[in-house]
Amino acid sequence: MTESPISVERVSKEYLGGSLIALDDMSLNIEENKVTAFIGPSGCGKTTLLRLIAGLEFPSRGQIKSYGLTIQGPGPDRGMVFQAYTSFPWLTTIRNVEHGMQIQGVSRSEQKSRANHFLKLVHLEEFANAYPSELSGGMKQRVAIARTLAQNPQLLLLDEPFGALDAQVTWEMEEMVIEIIESENKTVVLVTHDIQEAIYLADRIIFFTRQPGKIKADLSMDFKKGKRFPRKEDLLSLSGYVDMEKNLYQMMREEIQGKIS
Ligand code: ADP
Ligand code: MG
Repeated sequence: MTESPISVERVSKEYLGGSLIALDDMSLNIEENKVTAFIGPSGCGKTTLLRLIAGLEFPSRGQIKSYGLTIQGPGPDRGMVFQAYTSFPWLTTIRNVEHGMQIQGVSRSEQKSRANHFLKLVHLEEFANAYPSELSGGMKQRVAIARTLAQNPQLLLLDEPFGALDAQVTWEMEEMVIEIIESENKTVVLVTHDIQEAIYLADRIIFFTRQPGKIKADLSMDFKKGKRFPRKEDLLSLSGYVDMEKNLYQMMREEIQGKIS
């Protein structure tokens, strides 16, 4: 059996000297070339687990392995896109995309060709020479996605990447992510609290319980029969969609009601 891109082995993460258990004895494997969504109410540990996978933090107990090797810190095999815009304001779009590759020591000509490829993929080729201040929120987030992809990570980690965008821009971005997944063949882990977004983008949804964060459900999106849909509305008439959505809303309600206020 080949090793999993990410295996989370009995991981706990505590904060505040152990009084806050963000993740409690969690185990899961991320599957190659699949989109796995982490979903759950606010504060259930989704970002924490993603940061552990990125190597930005370390488990209190247990371990996380990438292809069988314990994660020791951030690496070029794992690229993360955050909710907040992270472009450098003094660099143009194309320079922002090239920047990460420059740090990796990619040749100048390769930087240019990869930057152009990914700017096209995120529909920003016409804005290559614009500065971040001249771009909308959605465009800035597309710059961040292009920059991360240009560094050629095997694993793309997305933490609520559209959380700051309005509804219409969000579904345009979601459809763009489908295009990217189809053309770039990446393994993706997406953190979201948005049920419809998770169903649309994911092949598998891991539902987290709230404090301590544990796996409440591990759901395969079998009703999509392995297909990915370029248009979000095409999912709505699939048999199985409504049941999945209802199930996730019910789980979300249970977790929110269980909250100690
Ligand atoms: P989510 O992304 O699901 O909303 P987080 O992973 O950000 O949740 O947080 C899980 C829990 O851990 C929350 O209660 C949060 O306040 C706590 N937490 C996260 N990071 C820290 C930190 N650096 N110090 C203290 N508590 C933290
Ligand atoms: Mg979060």
